[in-house]
Amino acid sequence: MELTAYIGLGSNLGPREETLRQALQDLAGRGGVTVTQVSGFAETEPVGGPPQGPFINAAAGRRTALSPRELLGVLQQIEDRFGRERDVRWGPRTLDLDLLLYGDQIVSDPELQVPHPLLHKRLFVLEPLCEIAPDVVHPILHKTVKQLLEDLAG
Ligand code: ATP
Ligand code: CA
Ligand code: CA
Repeated sequence: MELTAYIGLGSNLGPREETLRQALQDLAGRGGVTVTQVSGFAETEPVGGPPQGPFINAAAGRRTALSPRELLGVLQQIEDRFGRERDVRWGPRTLDLDLLLYGDQIVSDPELQVPHPLLHKRLFVLEPLCEIAPDVVHPILHKTVKQLLEDLAG
C-alpha cells in the first residue's frame, strides 16, 4: 500500500539551501519513494536549544511504500550523509529530516512518534506544510493543517 508521508526539512549549518536541494533529490531517488510536492524554502529563527544561526526550512510530500520505521531509517541515512552529528538536542545541524505525518497512521514508539509531537506547535513546520498539504487532516487532533496553522498563528 502506498501512502503520502510528509517530511519536514531544516538546516542551519553549512550550505543550507544546497543541502536541502540535495536531500530532496536523495529522498526522491530511494526505492519505494516518489516525489509529489515540495514547499518553498523559508528562513526562520531557531526555536529552543542553544544560541545558533537561522534555519532554512521546507516541507515535502512523498508517496511511499516504505513503512514509517523504514522511512525514518532512510531519513537518518540521508542526515548522516550530510555529516549530521547527534550531540546537542535542538543544537545546530547540517540537516534535520523529521517525519511529520504518514497518511492517517499513528505511531507511538520511543524512537518514532507520528504525527510528529510538536508539529502543531511550530510555525516553521506548519507554514511550509500548509503550502503543500492544507487539507490533510491530523489523525489525532482531527484538524486540517490549515486549521492548525490558523490556531497557532492566531
Ligand atoms: P524535534 O523532534 O523536537 O524536532 P530534533 O529533530 O532535534 O527534535 P533529533 O535529534 O533529530 O531531534 O532526533 C531525536 C530522535 O527523535 C531520533 O533519534 C528519532 O528516533 C526520534 N523521533 C521520534 N519521532 C520522530 C519523527 N516523527 N521524525 C523524526 N525523528 C523522530
Ligand atoms: Ca526537528
Ligand atoms: Ca529530527
